[in-house]
Amino acid sequence: MAMDGRRAVVIGAGIGGLTAARGLVDGGWQVTVFERADGLRPVGAGLAVAPNALRGLDAIGVGADVRALSALGMGGVCRPDGRWMIRIDAAELQRRFGETAAVVRRSALVDLLAGGLPSGAVRASAQVTEVEPGDERRPALVRATVSGAATEIEADLVVAADGIDSRTRAALFPDLPGPVYSGHTVWRILTPPLGSGLSSTETWGRGAVVGVMPLADGGVYLYFAVPAPPGQRAADERAELVRRFGGWHAPIPKALDAVDPDDVLRNDIYWLATPPPAFHRGRVALVGDAAHAMTPYLGQGGCQAIEDAVTLARFLAADQVPAALARYTDARLPRTSRIARQSARVGSVVQTRSHVVRALRDTALAAVGRFAPQLFYGSLESALEWRPPAPDGRAGRLR
Ligand SMILES: Cc1cc2nc3c(=O)[nH]c(=O)nc-3n(C[C@H](O)[C@H](O)[C@H](O)COP(=O)(O)OP(=O)(O)OC[C@H]3O[C@@H](n4cnc5c(N)ncnc54)[C@H](O)[C@@H]3O)c2cc1C
Repeated sequence: MAMDGRRAVVIGAGIGGLTAARGLVDGGWQVTVFERADGLRPVGAGLAVAPNALRGLDAIGVGADVRALSALGMGGVCRPDGRWMIRIDAAELQRRFGETAAVVRRSALVDLLAGGLPSGAVRASAQVTEVEPGDERRPALVRATVSGAATEIEADLVVAADGIDSRTRAALFPDLPGPVYSGHTVWRILTPPLGSGLSSTETWGRGAVVGVMPLADGGVYLYFAVPAPPGQRAADERAELVRRFGGWHAPIPKALDAVDPDDVLRNDIYWLATPPPAFHRGRVALVGDAAHAMTPYLGQGGCQAIEDAVTLARFLAADQVPAALARYTDARLPRTSRIARQSARVGSVVQTRSHVVRALRDTALAAVGRFAPQLFYGSLESALEWRPPAPDGRAGRLR
């Protein structure tokens, strides 16, 4: 096989893998996506796509479609009784970042990403079992079980987007500690239409956070995060949510009434506190949660997967695989490590059970909202101002 070939295997058809596949196909690569599930099953209910990731989606031609699916009304942070701690000014966000975030159903985003791939590019029921990373002179080798049959495929590039429990990461970096428990569990629900005019809110109570995000079709995406030991489960998770949050402000009680108990999703939150020493080895690049699984408190995990995928595809337009992957690690590892640490810090403040810390936090946030809102917007800057590399792989605002 010629070493300047353009045959890529992507492991995993989540947001990271599908975005990478789209970017590579645009760059003239022949792409096969192996997904171990028997179909495209977006894990999670809704997703906030911040301006940095919307710019990444623009680079692969789906940004406008994602914005069209979103209806993020402006709101802010409030207390469980509904009183505001800080209001978010949509005009100020527009001025600073060009736009606000989009909130979409995950299934809609996955459909948009997969819809633009050549037919047959995504192979379901295809579990990758082993990857030989290759090097400058040798291709990588991917072993997989596809619909029960063992398969081997050579590739000039392997994109490992196999999620937080990435087997590829563990094989490439066997000494790296695995994901650690954040101390928090999160429920997610999507409701049927609940009416118009709802604000987007994040509500901070004692050791608990609830997010309310209206969707364009009138439905609402809600998340509920609390500290809990890992593995704890209720017999009826919806009843558990009603017990904890049924007295919180509108539309939370109505949303809980409207949802089917079987549609309540619950996950314990783990993250990769120790990043790998590189995001590549040989001809394999780690993308998304496989590289840098983070807590959800900044809503950046999926956004960073999109940034990874677009950066990788565009660097590959400028350089041969080994050089492009080295640039990829240089551009992505420091940025994603910083955002992951920031997200963990935000989680520990937002989720505090301490009366004292909570009082300080609420007072400080209210003061920032009233007297120094620029501090609030400024704190978002480094994550949201990212710009993708140019189509020829140069420039961009990558840090
Ligand atoms: C509660 C919560 C809320 C969140 N909210 C947001 C948010 O609002 N905004 C945001 O940007 N991010 C958010 N995130 C983070 C976001 O969900 C993740 O960062 C993102 O989904 C990671 O995508 P991925 O493609 O890297 O991995 P995944 O979505 O985990 O995809 C990995 C895929 O690989 C497949 N796979 C695994 N192993 C193999 C194998 N051996 N062979 C073949 N296939 C394999 C899996 O089946 C899966 O389909 C949130 C996370 C949580 C937990």
